[in-house]
Amino acid sequence: MPGLYIVATPIGNLGDITPRAAALLARADVIAAEDTRVTAKLLSHLGLRVPMTPYHDHSDERARAALVARMETDVVALVSDAGTPLISDPGYKLVRDARAAGRRVTTLPGPCAAIAAITLSGLPSDRFLFAGFLPSKAKARSEAIAELAGLRATLVFYESGPRLAATLAALAEGLGNRAAAVAREISKLYEECVTGSLGELAARYADAPPKGEIVVIVAPPADNVVEEADDAAVDDALRAALAD
Ligand code: SAM
Repeated sequence: MPGLYIVATPIGNLGDITPRAAALLARADVIAAEDTRVTAKLLSHLGLRVPMTPYHDHSDERARAALVARMETDVVALVSDAGTPLISDPGYKLVRDARAAGRRVTTLPGPCAAIAAITLSGLPSDRFLFAGFLPSKAKARSEAIAELAGLRATLVFYESGPRLAATLAALAEGLGNRAAAVAREISKLYEECVTGSLGELAARYADAPPKGEIVVIVAPPADNVVEEADDAAVDDALRAALAD
């Protein structure tokens, strides 16, 4: 069926492509790709040759309109370099315009570094805010962190190795020395998830900026651990009940 298909791709391990994603890419009329050279490697791994066109949110209106027009008759697949399109990646304007034009829009869910990192971190996963990349300039970064300080939710940031220690220190300053996790190279050979307080993690990485791709997870404010208090109360009640 013609339309726009949002296709998640692996964030490291090519084995993580879903069978449905591979089948859709095989029958796509065109793949709108963030970087066609990166997507070419995935297609080569899958043994596919499919026409591609570059797509970014700053692609001009005409390029977007042309893709939306094609969706009337063609299967248009949207992919980013890695993971789920639109998540700190291009795509939302294409989806917006496809919807406005009444095109069929569907998604083929799959890998996303933010979600994978939350599952690795051991931090509360019931309520979280995905904050993407913090600004690189110190003042703008502090302001962005201050906006998040009162939020009763786990916070998720994308980050790069060279900026990691400064970001962790700024988070400790703006949020307090909360529990946190640094998830690195998820699904790749050197995957690791290091946990500790923001201060400990900032010190750990200060002299040794890590290589590879990174997600930082920060626990909610301490007064948000209502559930833990409730769990303890339930345990006490159970112990008391069993002792009777
Ligand atoms: N759309 C992607 C997704 O669904 O996760 C994210 C794209 S964003 C431009 C790239 C950032 O995602 C990286 O700088 C890093 O912070 C994070 N990331 C991507 N792959 C990762 C991996 N394998 N391990 C840890 N973080 C990763």
